[in-house]
Amino acid sequence: MSWFRRPTPEYITISPPQQRERIGKHVWHKCEACGTVLRRKEWENNWKVCPVCGEHDRITADERLRLIVDTDTFEETNANLVSNDPLKFVDTKTYPDRIAAARQKTGRNDAVITGRATIGEVPVSLAIMDFAFMGGSMGSVVGEKIARTMELALAEDRVCITLAATGGARMQEATLSLMQLTKTAQLCRKMQETDTPFISILTDPSTAGIMASFASLGDLILAEPGAYVGFAGKRVIEATIRQTLPANFQTSEFVQEHGFIDLVVKRSEMRGALITLLRQIRHMDPLPIEEEPATAE
Ligand SMILES: [Zn+2]
Repeated sequence: MSWFRRPTPEYITISPPQQRERIGKHVWHKCEACGTVLRRKEWENNWKVCPVCGEHDRITADERLRLIVDTDTFEETNANLVSNDPLKFVDTKTYPDRIAAARQKTGRNDAVITGRATIGEVPVSLAIMDFAFMGGSMGSVVGEKIARTMELALAEDRVCITLAATGGARMQEATLSLMQLTKTAQLCRKMQETDTPFISILTDPSTAGIMASFASLGDLILAEPGAYVGFAGKRVIEATIRQTLPANFQTSEFVQEHGFIDLVVKRSEMRGALITLLRQIRHMDPLPIEEEPATAE
């Protein structure tokens, strides 16, 4: 108990601590990697990349779409596909409850958006995964939408591009989820047989079932800097082989050094890199004016 209490003048309103924290987070962003405090607006305009250390934070599927495709060219496909619950799976919640919560949080029906677009005026068939929807996990809807993205590329002679952001298969769909691995891998084979180009882009994280299927089967495999890329987790491998693994194990740079990734590309340079690659693939001239990367605003 304090002996003296200074009365708060009437003209001062003190916000409760939670509100102060919320306002602070709205204005500022602290980089997880280097601890620099940045103005949130500037950090968001820089596509959530720290200008000091280059840390690439996660962005949403919508932000990725704005980042890479030509303005107003995206035409979404299969947006209404929704997962059923054939296994009646229940953990601490029912599967339909988890889906409903994820739909409310992200405003979309599952963990991937797909469609037609152009990038540097080259027609593409595109699938962008969203980690915010149940960890970007691949259940039957995600698998089906990615398969249809590949079928669209085959049918309309488009370049297929997938952007992975996922923890792997969706455990609530068990074997149905694992079946998506073979389904998407079979379509990768079909694209190879028909010379349909496929570019796989790995973002943080790209792990487990997705890496055991389509994401590792691109004709070209690109990745963002510092992305977590691998199949099993580092701790699981260390416990199995009883060895300490390097600190940068399963980063995109480490995986590139070992020959699995073709290019590590900064987020701000991803659209420019794609335009160059796509126009080379299609034997088109370079665009006359090299585009500056737009801001995220
Ligand atoms: Zn930083």
